[in-house]
Amino acid sequence: MRILVLILISSIISVSCNEQAAKNQIRKSSTPIGERIFYEIFVHAYYDSDGDGIGDLNGVTAKLDYLQGLGVSGIWLLPVHPSPTYHKYDVIDYYGIHPDYGTMEDMKTLLDEAHKRNIMVIIDMVVNHSSSEHIYFQEASKGENNPFRDYYVWSSDTLIQRQEPHHWHSNNGDREKYYGFFWKGMPDFNFDNPAVREEIKKIGKFWITEVGVDGFRLDAVKYIYPDSLVQKNVEWWQEYRAFLEDSDDDFFLVAEIWDESTSIGPFLDRGIHAAFNFELSFAIEELLIKRRDPGLGRMLGEIHERYQEASDSFYDAIFLKNHDQNRIMSLLTDPRQAKLAASILFTLPGIPFIYYGEEIAMLGLKPDEYIREPMVWDLPGQDSGQTNWIEPRHSTPGKVTPVKQQMENNTSLLFHYKKMISIRNEHKILSTGSIRSLNHIPDSFCAYELYNADNKILVIHNLVDKTANLDSELLKSRGRVLYLSGTYSEETRDLQLDPFGTLIQYVD
Ligand code: CA
Repeated sequence: MRILVLILISSIISVSCNEQAAKNQIRKSSTPIGERIFYEIFVHAYYDSDGDGIGDLNGVTAKLDYLQGLGVSGIWLLPVHPSPTYHKYDVIDYYGIHPDYGTMEDMKTLLDEAHKRNIMVIIDMVVNHSSSEHIYFQEASKGENNPFRDYYVWSSDTLIQRQEPHHWHSNNGDREKYYGFFWKGMPDFNFDNPAVREEIKKIGKFWITEVGVDGFRLDAVKYIYPDSLVQKNVEWWQEYRAFLEDSDDDFFLVAEIWDESTSIGPFLDRGIHAAFNFELSFAIEELLIKRRDPGLGRMLGEIHERYQEASDSFYDAIFLKNHDQNRIMSLLTDPRQAKLAASILFTLPGIPFIYYGEEIAMLGLKPDEYIREPMVWDLPGQDSGQTNWIEPRHSTPGKVTPVKQQMENNTSLLFHYKKMISIRNEHKILSTGSIRSLNHIPDSFCAYELYNADNKILVIHNLVDKTANLDSELLKSRGRVLYLSGTYSEETRDLQLDPFGTLIQYVD
C-alpha cells in the first residue's frame, strides 16, 4: 500500500514538473520580453462567448487569432477575480475567477491557446487593498480582538485621521477607523503584518506556478506604504519578486506607478521589471494637441538614463492611454492624427501597450465607464459576441468603424497598426535600441534616432496638417527605407512628408 502511494505521488510530481517544463519551454523559446508588444483588455467589454452580453475569458480566447494577426505578443487582462464592482479592482477572492468571466478551466484554456500563438498573458494583481467584502475584512471589522484585525490598518488617533480625512473610514460605531486610500470599499492591507506579506506572496505564486500566467500588472504599487516610507515600499516589492523567483524565474512584473520617472527608478532595482511611462503618455498627448515636439526623443533618453542608474536590467512600458484615461482619439482634433500617434508609439524603445480599441480609433471620455465601452467588432446586430455591458456614449455606430470593416480596407487605422507593428517586430532595434533627439530640426517635426552597437534608425514625424519639406544634412547618409508616407527625391535629397506623415529608415 505504502509503495503504491509513493508511486502515485511520484507520478503526480513528475506530471506537474513536466507540465511546468513544457510551459517554460514555450515561453523561453519565444520572443524576449523586451521585444514584445502588449495589448490591454477589459474582459468585460471585449467579446462575449455565451450570450449574456458580458465579455468573458472564452471570448478573449476566441479573439486570439485576431490579436496574433495584429502582431501582438502579450495581453494584459484587467482584474479577473470575484469582486462586487464591474471593474473588479476590489477583490473578494484572490484564488478565483469571476463567474461572469468563466472558470479556472477557461483561464487555463486561454493560457494554452495564447502560448501556442506566442502570446504571453499577464493579469492585473490588486494587492494594496482588498474589497471590504473580502472574508478577511468581514472578519477584521468584527472587533479589535478578531484574529484578522491586524490584516488591515486601524487607528483611533483622531489627529492622524484628521490629516487624511478622505482615507479613514468609520466601521459601524467602532472606536477605531480603518484606512482605505481609494475609498471605503477598498480597505488597505497592513503590510507590516508578516501574515499579510506571506498571503500576498502565496497568491502570486499560485497564479504563476499553478495556473501558469506569465506575470502581473501590479496595481497601485506606490501606495503599499505612504510616500514618506518609500524605501519600505521598495523593499516589499524586492521581497515579493525574490520570493516568486524561488519557484520560477520567468515571469514579468509591470507596475502602475502613476508618478514621474525619478520616483519610478528605485522600484526597478530588483523589484518590478517595468513601470508604465505616464510622463511619456502625457508628452505624446501634448505633442499631438500642440503639433509641436516638446523634445520627445531627448526626454525618453533621459528617463532611460535615470532608470539605468537605478538598475542595469529594466524595461519601459510605453503607451498612449490606458483604462484610467480619456481615449487618445477623443483628444485629437484631426482623425489622421490617430495614425501619427501609432507611428510614434511603435517607433519608440520599450514595450508598447495598446489599449483595446485604440487600433480602431475607439472614442471615450470620463467617467470611467465611458472610456471602457464595448469593443466594436461589426455593424450593429451583425456579431452576437459584441458585448453590451453598457450603452456606449462615444464609440457609437457611425462614429467608429468596426474591426470587420477596417480589416477590409487597406487605408484603415487597423491596417496602419498592423503595418507599424510588423515593422517593429521585424526590426528589433525599434524595441531595444537607445534613443536620442536630432538637433536643428524645426519643432513641427519630431525627429529622433534609435541606435545600438550595429545599427542606426532615423525616425521623422510631420506633426502638422500640411505637406512638409525637410532638407537636412541628416538625409545625406540614407539607408534602407522601412516606411515613408510622403516622397523623396534621390537627386535633390528633398524629403516631403505627408500631413502627419512619417519616415523610418536605416542610416548607413
Ligand atoms: Ca459572457
